[in-house]
Amino acid sequence: MSDCIFCRILAGEIPSQRVYEDEDMVAFHDIHPKAPVHVLVIPRKHIHSLAEAGEDDGALLGRVTLALPRIAKELGLTQGFRTIINTGSGGGQEVFHLHYHILGGPARLPFA
Ligand code: 5GP
Ligand code: ZN
Repeated sequence: MSDCIFCRILAGEIPSQRVYEDEDMVAFHDIHPKAPVHVLVIPRKHIHSLAEAGEDDGALLGRVTLALPRIAKELGLTQGFRTIINTGSGGGQEVFHLHYHILGGPARLPFA
């Protein structure tokens, strides 16, 4: 069993509310939402953080990045959304499996 909680979510060992998935990635609601809509998008491949991504990961991360606006649109975020990637403990990363936050809501998000 993996000790990475996002790998365990991918394996279905920890339940999550999935909103999108394909062969490259899975998107699910954040357990502690910080905006009316707060979804995490993770590659199926375990990459520790953006700092550990390699040249070989470029195409994968391109596909994940390009999926974000499609996922956001499906979530009803027609006016836009915020994307956050926290990298390393200094960047506020708590789960060390690379993930993109999608944040949005009906109104403009406060500046952060
Ligand atoms: P980070 O600070 O690493 O960028 O963000 C990790 C995010 O994962 C946090 O927003 C946190 O609420 C979320 N999270 C942590 N554990 C779980 C979990 O078991 N399930 C879900 N759905 N989200 C989680
Ligand atoms: Zn993982």
